[in-house]
Amino acid sequence: MRTPIIAGNWKMYKTLGEARELVAGLLAGLGEGAACEVVVCPPYTALASVGEQVANTPISLGAQDVFFEAQGAFTGAIAPQMLCDVGCRYVIVGHSERRQYFGDTDATVNRKLHAALANGLRPIMCVGESKPQRDAGEAEAIVTAQVRAGLADVTAAQMAEVVIAYEPIWAIGTGDTATSADAQAMHAAIRATLVEIFGAETAQTVRIQYGGSVKPDNVDELMAQPDIDGALVGGAALKADSFLRIIQFQ
Ligand code: PEP
Repeated sequence: MRTPIIAGNWKMYKTLGEARELVAGLLAGLGEGAACEVVVCPPYTALASVGEQVANTPISLGAQDVFFEAQGAFTGAIAPQMLCDVGCRYVIVGHSERRQYFGDTDATVNRKLHAALANGLRPIMCVGESKPQRDAGEAEAIVTAQVRAGLADVTAAQMAEVVIAYEPIWAIGTGDTATSADAQAMHAAIRATLVEIFGAETAQTVRIQYGGSVKPDNVDELMAQPDIDGALVGGAALKADSFLRIIQFQ
């Protein structure tokens, strides 16, 4: 049994006050807890404050990125230990926006993933194809190659800490969700790749999230798919009521 995991990626939204207000709304709505694991990933500036707010609650804290070096002259970068220090349990690596605008490659994503694991952080590794790649029939080859490269030199034991997020780039922030059948097909292909790398037993335990315009009105159908184990949510995670509805998928 894989415990579903729903994570909110707030991207470059929310001042400190807004972040705290959103978390207060989520905590009030969650009450005793949730049937799935819940993660929020605020911007760096709100991590410490939100970290205090969610300590000992059903919400875990995640960051949106991390650098792979431990410390040094890397202006603007944040080290894994700094994320642990403010209470992070998770960190997103390889989001398509980091790949597109900030130069992340499969190789740097792999280094970030190893740095996260070495520091006790759980990486949420994003993979996904562009629209031209999908239209050319290359989606599965692109995504499974990203999975292999991102997970290079990871052990089967370490996979207990890794979450994979399949996020077709054309579905992020566009309102254009993959059909649940297309998403399931890609998740199955990712799991088949994990079987080849780590064996069937490990592959069955790895959680694979879907991301790309997940909303209250499509989450139930997506989560009903056998290989979809959660969601990475952007826009709909910025308001308490819509994120709560997604967490409470049927
Ligand atoms: C994301 O930020 O990873 C994402 C999937 O965004 P959205 O839900 O807005 O498409």
